[in-house]
Amino acid sequence: MSDTTRVYSYSAILMGSPILLKLFVHDEALASRVFRLIKQYEDLLTVNRAQSQVMDINHAAGQRAVKVSSPVYALIKCAKAASELPQSAFNLAIGPLVKRWRIGFKGDSVPPADEITHLLTLTRHDQVILNDDDESVFLAQPGMEIDLGAIAKGYIADRVRDFLRQEGVAQGLINLGGNVQTLGMPEGGWSIGLKKPFSTAGAMIGTLDVENKSVVTSGVYERFFEQDGQLYHHILDPRTGYPVNNELNSVTIVSTNSIDGDIWTTLMYGMGVEKGCAALRARPDIEAIFVTKKKEVVLSSAHLYRFTLLDNEYRLTDSTV
Ligand code: FAD
Ligand code: MG
Repeated sequence: MSDTTRVYSYSAILMGSPILLKLFVHDEALASRVFRLIKQYEDLLTVNRAQSQVMDINHAAGQRAVKVSSPVYALIKCAKAASELPQSAFNLAIGPLVKRWRIGFKGDSVPPADEITHLLTLTRHDQVILNDDDESVFLAQPGMEIDLGAIAKGYIADRVRDFLRQEGVAQGLINLGGNVQTLGMPEGGWSIGLKKPFSTAGAMIGTLDVENKSVVTSGVYERFFEQDGQLYHHILDPRTGYPVNNELNSVTIVSTNSIDGDIWTTLMYGMGVEKGCAALRARPDIEAIFVTKKKEVVLSSAHLYRFTLLDNEYRLTDSTV
């Protein structure tokens, strides 16, 4: 962006995350309406409080189906479909494990192995029973819990984009703490930083220049704890019940819709670089930037954005060459 462009930033803390809105007009009232919209979705979808529509479903596990509002039903249906993809590492029924590990929350610890084995039996996404007729959700076993932590921010970022468009905003950006959605193309474009893992807050490996695109990053450095020299982060492998253990420090997805970005970061975590790049060959609308523990930056392809490497500790590789 040129130095003459005036950007107005508005911030809030919602969903336990720093929220940043950028506009090219000074409009506190509009910013308040955006934050209110996010809060409304948080109130419907959160699993970090005793009550929400998702918690109503969880509290009724093994007992009865619960009717929810259409947006909540649609999001759960989408999360179930992502869980059913072949070899998917995404699992909307991961809740009991997330609650037990408590990664990113007070009291996190490594659960005993037999407890993990037991909790895995409560994470069967085929036991999330959807009824399109009355938009109700039934969890077949007591103790099951839906967790939309890997998809809800992406969904909400898209709703904020739609709302801003409706309000006639041509250019803007919403960052829900790792989920960025952009509108339009300001002079010089949107430049989104690719965070340097385990570094200071502003440190960047490089930048992505985008236009009307979402940029979603999931990293092992975001929420984690260490025990006996081992790092435990918040992206769990639904096959083992433990944090995904592979070559990745982060995955960033560039796509039109942020919900796809949120789903695909989790899918890519499960696949790793090689299988992930192979899977993305069938999806030209979705591109990934993998940052490995060996300080490589691997681009699955780069048609939707332009990448600039800023940190020469890192080596850039294009999977297509
Ligand atoms: P992603 O990588 O996109 O997702 C990781 C998250 O998804 C995990 O934290 C877990 O919740 C879940 N998950 C883990 N493994 C899997 C898997 N294999 N498949 C599917 N899902 C998985 N944080 C707070 O600290 N306090 C709050 O009050 C709070 N409220 C929230 C309310 C809402 C509505 C939402 C959406 C999030 C809230 N959060 C809160 C943040 C939340 O706990 C997660 O940390 C966050 O959603 C992770 O997003 P991410 O993009 O960093 O990670
Ligand atoms: Mg995600």
